[in-house]
Amino acid sequence: MTESQPPASATTEAREETDRSDRLLLEYLVNNDAACPVCGYNVRGLTRPVCPECRHRLRLTVGATDVTLRWFLAAIAPGVFSGIAAIFLAIPLIVSPLIGNGSAPGFIIATDVFGFTSGIAALVMMAQRKPIVAMPAGNQQMLVAIVWAVHILAFIALLGVAFGWY
Ligand SMILES: [Zn+2]
Repeated sequence: MTESQPPASATTEAREETDRSDRLLLEYLVNNDAACPVCGYNVRGLTRPVCPECRHRLRLTVGATDVTLRWFLAAIAPGVFSGIAAIFLAIPLIVSPLIGNGSAPGFIIATDVFGFTSGIAALVMMAQRKPIVAMPAGNQQMLVAIVWAVHILAFIALLGVAFGWY
């Protein structure tokens, strides 16, 4: 061994492991259709682990079946919408007293507080995305049902106050 050669080490082992993974990947692609994760090109029958279309290097990886973001997105949608609406609603609430128009009605303030609370809840769920997506589908559907029920009830309550139903 000369000085310029790196010692037989983890680097070498890692490279051998990569070669093995590449062989397994190419072996799989001989008979299977697969889309390049970058450009979507069908990489079946590749002879090198590189996408011929976009030139990205491809590697063997582990995927999970039936993972879906559908319920997660349905759970955060009302909060994202409410949070953004609350930001816009806050502008007149803050400006109005400053220009001497008096303070807004209580139910408008309550609506804005609800919107911000909902938006923060959506942010918390985004931060907890992995454990939520890992929950059984039934639990995720329950979460979606609760979130939507709370928002629909709040919306009906808001309409009720706005139109003087009670
Ligand atoms: Zn590609």
